[in-house]
Amino acid sequence: MPELAYINGRIMPIEDAVVSVEDRGYQFGDAVYEVIASYGGKMFCIKEHFVRLDRSMKELHFPEVQIDEIRKAAVDLFSKAKIERAAVYIQVSRGVSPRNHSFPADIPVQVVMTVRKIEGKNPPIRETGISAITVEDFRWGRCDIKTVQLLPNVLAKQKALDAGCYDAIFVSKDGIVREGSSSNLFILSEGMLITHPLTPDILSGITRSLVLDICREKEYPVQERFFDKSELYGAVEVFLTGTITEVLPVVKIDGRPVGNGKVGPAARMFQEGLLGRLKSE
Ligand code: PMP
Repeated sequence: MPELAYINGRIMPIEDAVVSVEDRGYQFGDAVYEVIASYGGKMFCIKEHFVRLDRSMKELHFPEVQIDEIRKAAVDLFSKAKIERAAVYIQVSRGVSPRNHSFPADIPVQVVMTVRKIEGKNPPIRETGISAITVEDFRWGRCDIKTVQLLPNVLAKQKALDAGCYDAIFVSKDGIVREGSSSNLFILSEGMLITHPLTPDILSGITRSLVLDICREKEYPVQERFFDKSELYGAVEVFLTGTITEVLPVVKIDGRPVGNGKVGPAARMFQEGLLGRLKSE
């Protein structure tokens, strides 16, 4: 089935899609994005992703956009691609304009989308769990806005891979555990699930809020609060959450086993709960 791209209303094969060198996303990272996963031919949590995209644009003072039009175009592109298990990538930049830091006057945003096939992450890593390193969080102060400025995340991920690990966990200068390089993070400590509260220092993950929702539904004890690296090291279980990541157990951090070093029951339960949500949506 075709992997398709969309640029401002035009649909084409991905390999034919090119944007101007004067796209502000390209020159300044002046763009926001979303990634939506599909399962069995259906895009999951569309509403939540478009609410966040709209918020990201508003936080960056983008010109008014018809968010419903972008949403319709995304659904249309996805249905044309006919890929059951896909990642739908949506990027909106402040537009195309001669390079100048100040906001250009009266130009439309540029909307770029792609639909690509993805492989499920099920066996082996969801079964074995992954290893991670911690890295200092040197990102900017608005990690709650989903911008394409991902250089620290790219460097952190590569550092993890170079260290023979799968991912990196951002920890602030003063030791607060934030999130993964492209995921949120939960720990299980003394029977309580704990995750960083919503502040400008992390992304408000859609999978994170689904896990919190599952906690409410199952009356599973949970806290949104700060925790430090020593609490991370001492956790019984650790897992990452994200649209593509789903619920991914972390069994080793900085060379130390998490709990007994094996995938634990909480991670399995939340992964199953998440898949249950897919069926019920
Ligand atoms: N934090 C960061 C830095 C991310 O890139 C992502 C992936 N979008 C997440 C958290 C998880 O967000 P979501 O569950 O909405 O995919």
